[in-house]
Amino acid sequence: FQSRSQEVQGLAYSLARKVNFSEVRAIYGFSGETHLSHLYYPMIDVADILHPQLEKFGGPRPTVVPVGVDQDPHLRLARDVAAKFSEEYGFLPPSSTYHRLMRDLFGGKMSSSRPDSALFLTDPPEVWERKIWDALTGGRPTAREQREKGGEPSKCLVYELCMYHFMPEDKELLELKERCEKGEIICGECKEGMVERAKDFLRELEERRKEVRSKVERLLHEIYPTF
Ligand code: SF4
Repeated sequence: FQSRSQEVQGLAYSLARKVNFSEVRAIYGFSGETHLSHLYYPMIDVADILHPQLEKFGGPRPTVVPVGVDQDPHLRLARDVAAKFSEEYGFLPPSSTYHRLMRDLFGGKMSSSRPDSALFLTDPPEVWERKIWDALTGGRPTAREQREKGGEPSKCLVYELCMYHFMPEDKELLELKERCEKGEIICGECKEGMVERAKDFLRELEERRKEVRSKVERLLHEIYPTF
């Protein structure tokens, strides 16, 4: 919730002193019809990108921001702004990597402000199970129709989860796609399998967390003795 962070808000206000309308218009295509709140919003994004370099968070340092391609304008503006404030704050221009982003479980844009829209690594297994059962699929309105016409994996979020996270083997993924398109598998069955995979994933994650927990605590204690 970047816009609720006091540090981000304060920094946005400060950075806005050196950004004029022509610059944001050139980047975002704003016009005379654009609302003032919309005009200001890029500064919140820029402040969100740069605030980890404030003294409070450890000071200036190289940063890499993973984003979707549609976020590139914010990164370009952030680099310009970082250069303008290099003396005042010591900012280094942020680097970025570009990713194809997964859709949320209902086919929209993922957002941490809608907890049911995504699987969080901190969720317990039963919450993942519920979310997977509620996820949008590419299934047909009835099982009969699905057996006749086949499903549409390109629209299906369960398929997308398999593709990005839970089916490392392409061969297996292709098999699921073909079975779905031929109507050889229906969504209930498919989701059951998916829930099992997801629970296995969480179990393994928990075991790995246990393995490294004491190591992480020791390291943190070395860096921050009061930890
Ligand atoms: S069968 Fe599986 S992959 Fe196909 S639409 Fe249903 S949930 Fe998605």
